[in-house]
Amino acid sequence: MTTVCLTFDFDAVSLWISSLKQTTANPMSRGEFAPRVGLPRVLALLLEKGVKATFFVPAHTAVSFNAETRRILDDGHEIGIHGYCHETPVGLSKTDEASLLDKAIAKLRNALGQDFTPVGYRSPAWDLSENSIALLEERGIVYDSSLMADDYKPYWASRGFQVSEEAYQAGPASKVVEIPVAWELDDFPHFMFLNKPLYLGMRTPAEVYELWREEFDFSATIEGSVFTLTMHPEIIGRGPRMAMLSRLIDHMKSTSGTTFSTVADAARHWRVRSH
Ligand SMILES: [Zn+2]
Repeated sequence: MTTVCLTFDFDAVSLWISSLKQTTANPMSRGEFAPRVGLPRVLALLLEKGVKATFFVPAHTAVSFNAETRRILDDGHEIGIHGYCHETPVGLSKTDEASLLDKAIAKLRNALGQDFTPVGYRSPAWDLSENSIALLEERGIVYDSSLMADDYKPYWASRGFQVSEEAYQAGPASKVVEIPVAWELDDFPHFMFLNKPLYLGMRTPAEVYELWREEFDFSATIEGSVFTLTMHPEIIGRGPRMAMLSRLIDHMKSTSGTTFSTVADAARHWRVRSH
């Protein structure tokens, strides 16, 4: 019995502004591909397959591409927090990180409606500060999906840690469920091409299909596993890659004991079973 969580980070232009510091016409156009081409294709595929998914959306995207972001909710998918403008929480003071998190949630609410209540978080950097989990816990956030201490099994995220060359000591377990991610299961390293810094990507969809199918088949042998794919509408949204994803979803559906769910539902179910 395995649960598949298809997740899409709807970074759009925020990735280029904040993480890559490139704001000229070409990078902006690469970001615009997400709302203009990638997202409509992704939403159409999810509708066709009858699958609910999770989208992590920077507040910057929700404001800049508001109608497109609302469509995600209208189609019944989940939206989780993904930073104010795709910034890393690492290196921020606790106060600054808390205020940026609150600003991101407030801006998402202004863009999507005051009844919008996010229950999940994915760090735009796939990295956390020593305070991140405690800040999420204080705000009642159910899950984080940024860390890699397991491959297919959720676990309780720990509240910080102590690290030195003498020893490593994880902090106490929090009430935040960690839904682990993996570079192997992210479309970015496989496909994304960057010239500054040089980042090759550009694998064929067939190669990535094989890698993802093998990972999925292994996860399906583990009782209670959660198989989480991380994708980006501007990357997976190119035609042949969408065809590959469609094929993969069909393969998953033909594997007995597989269900699809949002990350929020997968985290809630795991939390209930683990108490
Ligand atoms: Zn992102």
